[in-house]
Amino acid sequence: MVLPNHFLQHVQHLPGMDLPAFQHAHEQEERIFSVRVNSAKLAHVQHLQTPAKPIPWCPQGWYLSAKPSYTFDPLFHAGAYYVQEASSMFIHHILTQLALPKNSTAVDMCAAPGGKTTLLANYFSEGAVISNEVIKTRNSILVENCTKWGTPNMVATQNDPKHFAALPGLAQVLVVDAPCSGSGLFRKDANAVAEWSENNVALCSGRQQRILADCLPCLQTDGYLIYATCSYSFQENEDIVNWLCSTQNCTSVNIPFPEEWGIVRTQINQAIGYRFYPNQVGGEGFFVAVLQYHGGTLFSGGKATTLANVSATEMHNINASILTTHQTVLKFNEQFLACNTAVASIHAVLVGTLYVKKLGISLGSCKHQQFLPEHDAAVSTLTIQLPSVELSTEQAIGYLQKLNPDLPPCDNGWVRVLYQNIGLGWIKKMNNRYNNYYPVNWRILKQ
Ligand code: SAM
Repeated sequence: MVLPNHFLQHVQHLPGMDLPAFQHAHEQEERIFSVRVNSAKLAHVQHLQTPAKPIPWCPQGWYLSAKPSYTFDPLFHAGAYYVQEASSMFIHHILTQLALPKNSTAVDMCAAPGGKTTLLANYFSEGAVISNEVIKTRNSILVENCTKWGTPNMVATQNDPKHFAALPGLAQVLVVDAPCSGSGLFRKDANAVAEWSENNVALCSGRQQRILADCLPCLQTDGYLIYATCSYSFQENEDIVNWLCSTQNCTSVNIPFPEEWGIVRTQINQAIGYRFYPNQVGGEGFFVAVLQYHGGTLFSGGKATTLANVSATEMHNINASILTTHQTVLKFNEQFLACNTAVASIHAVLVGTLYVKKLGISLGSCKHQQFLPEHDAAVSTLTIQLPSVELSTEQAIGYLQKLNPDLPPCDNGWVRVLYQNIGLGWIKKMNNRYNNYYPVNWRILKQ
């Protein structure tokens, strides 16, 4: 890839830029493959198909020695890992340095397809992670990825960032991984080079300020804002951080890290930021900054809609048919939802104020005294009562293609299909035949 002159002129004087090495890194064919393991599902990285090397700033992150076939790896569909660019996983290091309690509430404002959200969901395992994506088509991808991740601490919403101002002080952490001009991902998307322009950088910078100003009030006093882009441009990075410090009641937070990681720390006026150049780190272009917000309030609620109570009989039925772990169960449009205590404590204001697309885990519904389980429950990390059957790799791929492979013997009725002990979905077995309940839109299309 040859970088155009107008782009090289734009980036040549950036802090920490070594232009010849940067150009060389863009001329290489070599690609970096990395994944982040779902610590709620997969204890050992040895389950991955290819040998892996640890990513220093995220214990769940692994560089892969070659590109595996994600499509034909049942663990990928089971949400056992997420394919994520290594630089972005630095968010994990930031969270450990901030030493935030595990039961914190985090809002991920620009969340699709879900890379930062799934990292937050593992980190704040006892908290609530509200992941928002305003664009409808991208929101459905976010919901799919949250469903596969399967933890009961996640809520997905589809709102304009300004709607979050109606929930003042809701979050201890706000992640804004803003839409940007995308120069940091040129090595992964050669078409983006032709689309790049200074004009677009200026447009993105204006939009980034609007998004931040709109949603900052949902952060608690002294809460943390993590602002990120995959752009190199000063106007989208340090300029935005300086604007946050000078006009939005924020101060920059320093995040220590070992020098050998190759990340460039920048400090310009009040703005501290962290730059990732592909010629210096094992990852693509990325910028991140951490700020503390001194405006805001403590959370005092918002417009609330309490979901229907689950009766004692219904709870008995749920416990008898599907759920064994202790979770809070709520009822929404005849669906039973399981969520953790942190999500349960704010569900009413979330449903009352935002357009909630997913809340916790959908367990299923009751019809004519029969419990109909939902796909969400099968792929979740909850302990499920219903019988299960373990599949071989070949059987699991056939199941995910919605073919009817030969299955090992199993009980009649609803059976949870497992691969390496991780839920993939449901089948309903009736003597010699069964129905495959894997969601048709998510099936593997390649043969
Ligand atoms: N955080 C995501 C992840 O780690 O997978 C990537 C987010 S991507 C860089 C930025 C997201 O912002 C996109 O999904 C895009 O649809 C969304 N977006 C675009 N315009 C927006 C706006 N005006 N307000 C909020 N989000 C917007």
